Amino acid sequence: MNKVIDVQALNKSFGELQVLKDIHFNVKEGEVVVIIGASGSGKSTLLRCLNFLEMKDSGEISLHGKRVDERKDKLNEIRQNIGMVFQQFNLFPHKTVLENVMEAPLQVRKMEKDKAAHKARELLNKVGLSDKEDVFPNRLSGGQKQRVAIARALAMNPLIMLFDEPTSALDPELIGEVLQTMKDLAKEGMTMVAVTHEMRFAREAADRVVYMHDGRIVEEGTPEEIFEHPQNDRTKQFLQSIY
Ligand code: ADP
Ligand code: MG
Repeated sequence: MNKVIDVQALNKSFGELQVLKDIHFNVKEGEVVVIIGASGSGKSTLLRCLNFLEMKDSGEISLHGKRVDERKDKLNEIRQNIGMVFQQFNLFPHKTVLENVMEAPLQVRKMEKDKAAHKARELLNKVGLSDKEDVFPNRLSGGQKQRVAIARALAMNPLIMLFDEPTSALDPELIGEVLQTMKDLAKEGMTMVAVTHEMRFAREAADRVVYMHDGRIVEEGTPEEIFEHPQNDRTKQFLQSIY
């Protein structure tokens, strides 16, 4: 299968602190990869390196088989093909829901307004928010905001979607709707990497679960392998600590 992202021997430090240590990681087309691990283990930094929001110190990152050269390639163009959804929704407060979803296609892709609106409505329908298109973000629940953020990321037709703890800021009763939206996307064949503490989502939606500890990928496998038959003591300890 085609690798959408392929990471080889990635290292990243902040000052003296090495946060990513010899990371080898890939995501195949249509695959859903869930990254788990304790706070501070380097999960967000890895996602940010994949999106070139953070620059690696060494190693290689390839997108669709093409090695990215941070000094020569246009990182803005690369980032446009990678959808990112964060814990905080970062919607534009003075734009309506529809305008939020249209913004990047209009500004970045120079799409015609009618076309952008049509596409945005399709996406709002997909995330179940057709009735909210004229509303401003402050009138939405956290779960609705996050679904708008997902629609906004999808508006750029990304090759891959990266989610960094998308439900961590939500009240418990709002988590399910966001996870369901992510599951729907996964079912449609979207290539996804999600950092999450929602182990049920990992069990149900992931093709592969990656466990990180202290800047390393310690173990990876199918949900069954990781949750039912973890091999590494660290993985076992982590799973015990969260159940
Ligand atoms: P996780 O997402 O698994 O909680 P992070 O990738 O956010 O982990 O952080 C890994 C380590 O890197 C932590 O020790 C964190 O404090 C540190 N770190 C993250 N970002 C920065 C930064 N911009 N500057 C300095 N240290 C950072
Ligand atoms: Mg994090």
